[in-house]
Amino acid sequence: MHELSIAQSVVDIVLQHVSADEAHRVKAVFLKVGDLAGVVPDSLEFGFTAITAGTALENAKLRIERIPFTIRCLRCGATSTQEIGISICAQCGSLETTTIGGTELHITEIEVNDPEETS
Ligand SMILES: [Zn+2]
Repeated sequence: MHELSIAQSVVDIVLQHVSADEAHRVKAVFLKVGDLAGVVPDSLEFGFTAITAGTALENAKLRIERIPFTIRCLRCGATSTQEIGISICAQCGSLETTTIGGTELHITEIEVNDPEETS
């Protein structure tokens, strides 16, 4: 399962960014997932929950933000959000476009509770 290995990577990255003391206070992990990234958010959340169960990160929740497939026209400069696979400028119909959004798959923020709140 593709999402399970991604979930494991997310766990690894989070653990690299927080101290052992902070790990059990991680409240949420914010992810940007592009529509072109080939990831099913529900499966990713499921995998993350499964992997973190019984670990220091078991209280952490994944917060996934979907990023739509977005292109910019090289001819008229217009930006448009498109169905996957359609790279035609919505403004002028040009095929000369470049993808500017939708391929993301990265962590944007790790939210950690203050020590006072959990003690
Ligand atoms: Zn255009």
